[in-house]
Amino acid sequence: DRVPLKRALISVYDKTGLEELAAGLHAAGVQIVSTGSTAQRIAGAGVPVTEVSEVTGFQECLDGRVKTLHPMVHAGILADRRREDHVAQLAQMDVQPFDLVVVNLYPFVDTVRSGAGQDEVVEQIDIGGPSMVRAAAKNHPSVAVVVDPAKYGDVVSAAQQGGFDLPARRRLAALAFAHTAAYDNAVAAWTAAQFEADEDTAEASLFPPYAGVTLQRAQTLRYGENPHQQAALYVEDGATPGIAQAELLHGKAMSYNNYADADAALRAAYDFNQAAVAIVKHANPCGVGVAVESGDDPIAEAHRKAHECDPVSAFGGVIAANREVTAGMANTVQGIFTEVVIAPSFSAEALEILSAKKNIRLLRLPEGFARDSVEYKQVSGGMLLQARDAVDAAGDDPETWTLAAGPAADPETLADLAFAWRAVRAPKSNAVLLASGGATVGIGMGQVNRLDSCRLAVERANTLGAASTGAQETATEITTAGGAENVSGTGAPERARGAVAASDAFFPFADGLQILIDAGVRAVVQPGGSVRDEDVIAAAEAAGVTMYFTGARHFFH
Ligand code: 5GP
Repeated sequence: DRVPLKRALISVYDKTGLEELAAGLHAAGVQIVSTGSTAQRIAGAGVPVTEVSEVTGFQECLDGRVKTLHPMVHAGILADRRREDHVAQLAQMDVQPFDLVVVNLYPFVDTVRSGAGQDEVVEQIDIGGPSMVRAAAKNHPSVAVVVDPAKYGDVVSAAQQGGFDLPARRRLAALAFAHTAAYDNAVAAWTAAQFEADEDTAEASLFPPYAGVTLQRAQTLRYGENPHQQAALYVEDGATPGIAQAELLHGKAMSYNNYADADAALRAAYDFNQAAVAIVKHANPCGVGVAVESGDDPIAEAHRKAHECDPVSAFGGVIAANREVTAGMANTVQGIFTEVVIAPSFSAEALEILSAKKNIRLLRLPEGFARDSVEYKQVSGGMLLQARDAVDAAGDDPETWTLAAGPAADPETLADLAFAWRAVRAPKSNAVLLASGGATVGIGMGQVNRLDSCRLAVERANTLGAASTGAQETATEITTAGGAENVSGTGAPERARGAVAASDAFFPFADGLQILIDAGVRAVVQPGGSVRDEDVIAAAEAAGVTMYFTGARHFFH
């Protein structure tokens, strides 16, 4: 099922590798037909070439808008050589068939990115190129189509070996259709954005009527969330570089769950300006810490604090750091069973320390890493889009908070409240988070009522601290020593006492807050805005607990 390559049509904007391709094809006995500057370049390399205008008997016109759009070209590409009637018609019309089409398109996306004006961009919408590519891809039983200069070596080999076989032509056709689809997607998105720019609304530019998301498979993953599910990683064309572009420096390939958890960890760690570390399990943080001491290894301090929150859960966790991983941090991490560490960089020493562990994955964030401005969520039959929830809503700045109950917080307490407010955005709702000294000490997350989240936060604070070396913990390689002071009669630290709390949404009743108060929490930050705010305020007042209202909410599902 090989189709020998006898006649090729080459029309490329990107001339990379063109001379070698033409020379190789010519040496293999392939006749070459080509457009304007492509033909010039081939002739310049001393390779015989026929101009398309000679084939069509028609001059290229309208500044190149019409070059190959002609039946002499398209009938030659589209004739199905398995069909006698097609072959007979070609002979009757004196059309020579093409066996190979090599095209790459005008650089539309690059032109848009260069900031070119509308007319210039429009001129870069390739018309003839995609027509040839689609025609050749459709007719892959007879024609091979190549859109990527990286494939030229294969083309020359195929020319020498009697052509591509059918599976190869089919693969090339699939790549070609994906290429033109992505191209048109970009054209559609840009055109829609121009139309929206005329309307000049902020939402419109964030959400064009046509989303224009083009995803390409980057990697097949071993399996999905569970071993019986197939899975793959797709990357978004032109997306802000993120976890999908991160580089694996050490360890086994990333799994589906590794990617999801690492992304969740990044979300938490990158909400802070100071050095911060988040440890995630099942997409929820089990510890978040920031550096507050003026030590010389802030990221190690942040990690130590994040880990101490819940060493039991941190076993097998995914760690994100928003600063370079230092030897100090690496020395602690290497003693803790950890699935993934993701960071902007690793010091040489840290890399050496951690690489000694076979099963840890070390992932470096790509250059220019930033969070996407739009978040997507699949729903059946469609997709929800929303602007990213950054901690930048009116109300996220402690300066704007309203003191709803109790005495105003001292600067240290206020700093802890500010930390808790940022950190409470990361766990799944309903989230209630206890914090002390720049670290979470108890997180209640993912509950269907706020009361349970409060109970969970308190229980975790009082049972899971670093000092509570239970059986599970000893079974792991955890080496970090605990710092909790208020150890109760049961041997567990009472870390809720004296901590501050944040709630991702308002308390609908006073009961949840009462649980925090009873556990000894001394200051609380929450959005406020419940119809029963008065009851909630009264409970805080009665206990002398400080409570701030932010007016902003951070649900996360
Ligand atoms: P050249 O540099 O050889 O003059 O032109 C090559 C480029 O022209 C390729 O990117 C190809 O996709 C594009 N092209 C080929 N035929 C046509 C056509 O008929 N109309 C338009 N607009 N572009 C074409």
